[in-house]
Amino acid sequence: IRRNPHESEFHQAVKEILDSLSPVFDQHPEYIEQGILERLVEPERIVTFRVPWVDDQDRVHVNRGFRVQFNSALGPYKGGLRFHPSVNASIIKFLGFEQILKNALTGQPIGGGKGGSDFDPKGKSDREIMNFTQSFMTELYRHIGPDIDVPAGDIGVGAREIGYMFGQYKRIRGANETGVLTGKGIGYGGSLGRKEATGYGCVYFVEEMLKSKGWAFKDATVVVSGSGNVAIYAIEKAQQLGAKVVACSDSNGYIFDPEGIKLETVKQLKEKERKRISEYASLHPSAQYVEGCDGIWSIPCDIALPCATQNEIDEASAKLLIANGVKAIGEGANMPSTLEAIEAFLGAGVLFGPAKAANAGGVAVSALEMAQNNMRLSWSFEEVDAKLHAIMRDIYESSVRAAKTYGEEGNLVTGANIAGFLRVAEAMMAQGVV
Ligand code: NDP
Repeated sequence: IRRNPHESEFHQAVKEILDSLSPVFDQHPEYIEQGILERLVEPERIVTFRVPWVDDQDRVHVNRGFRVQFNSALGPYKGGLRFHPSVNASIIKFLGFEQILKNALTGQPIGGGKGGSDFDPKGKSDREIMNFTQSFMTELYRHIGPDIDVPAGDIGVGAREIGYMFGQYKRIRGANETGVLTGKGIGYGGSLGRKEATGYGCVYFVEEMLKSKGWAFKDATVVVSGSGNVAIYAIEKAQQLGAKVVACSDSNGYIFDPEGIKLETVKQLKEKERKRISEYASLHPSAQYVEGCDGIWSIPCDIALPCATQNEIDEASAKLLIANGVKAIGEGANMPSTLEAIEAFLGAGVLFGPAKAANAGGVAVSALEMAQNNMRLSWSFEEVDAKLHAIMRDIYESSVRAAKTYGEEGNLVTGANIAGFLRVAEAMMAQGVV
């Protein structure tokens, strides 16, 4: 806190992890002696840079770009780029820190990183998005590469933005280094199944949690927050498994459709037309639109999948969900529950799938995209989806095992933190003090 004042999101992420690692340090004092903890919380490198660009009215704007290269013990830095006005050093560091352990949990050879900008893509024309992303890449290209650091998408960065950035990288480098970014279009090195991976993976993870109690998605009532990439494919997979998804949202408000969300409408509005979720209610009379996002957690449900942003479930929302009988939470977004909310869920015996385990499917398939790029091969959707499913099961099982081994049976927050940490710590020990 002394070294990083005002970085509240970063402190929150570190506190959650350090709290759960104390049983590990009791058994492995060598990690303390070798400074693993101090090294883990200090990024290997952070770059911040100016991103000047020109809008459609010829006005010049200046945004700030970030890339944190947090830990490379397991492989090239890997993690998304977020474009959102709230982006600052604290948010990028919390995301990068979480990413180290998440990537470790996937079992793939990837280190942890994250980046982005305080640029707001909302309401911008295609030309403005291209101007901004080209300017962003004109600095970022110096710091990344297929064997150095491989960014992907996150909030505000989808296939369009990745495409423009890939084009600019190629133009500057004068080489077709396909593996420099993931989440690319299918026609130029992208992987089938990447778009669906985070949402599907989250549902696969929750399915494993439910199975442990003899429950399933079939006939369950589900609430999903957000209506972006993660939310849409979480809804799709939950519906495929027979659940009724009754609500989703954007940063302005939420829709409640007791007959079940018509996903094709959400895809049309959000993926194609880039409109607000409020429009859904004018197309489907069964639905009600409510301004403001918090209220979504007052809708009674069996399973809640927060897939929008950090700290969207606070203690009061958690208590409301519990009082309404929620059985399971799967964190599709990064750190969507506050520390108090997590405590409330665990205390009430609600099944809780923490972000770094439940949403690791996206980065896992990004690593599969890197593998396909290296081999110059393309796997089928079914092949990628089967690998994703196996990875999510494996993450679940290793989290359960780690929790049990270290005396916290059933606590997947602790289990995921420990399982990820052990893999990184062993690699760091083997590579000396670097
Ligand atoms: P998108 O930009 O596609 O969608 C984000 C969604 O969340 C939008 O519906 C957006 O609404 C809403 N949202 C964003 N900020 C806020 C806010 N402050 N309050 C309420 N709603 C908000 O992003 P993704 O779906 O890719 O990412 C969602 C979450 O999942 C993030 O936490 C991200 O870090 C995490 N994640 C994403 C992965 C991926 O593969 N994409 C991988 C792992 C985690 P609006 O349209 O109004 O902005």
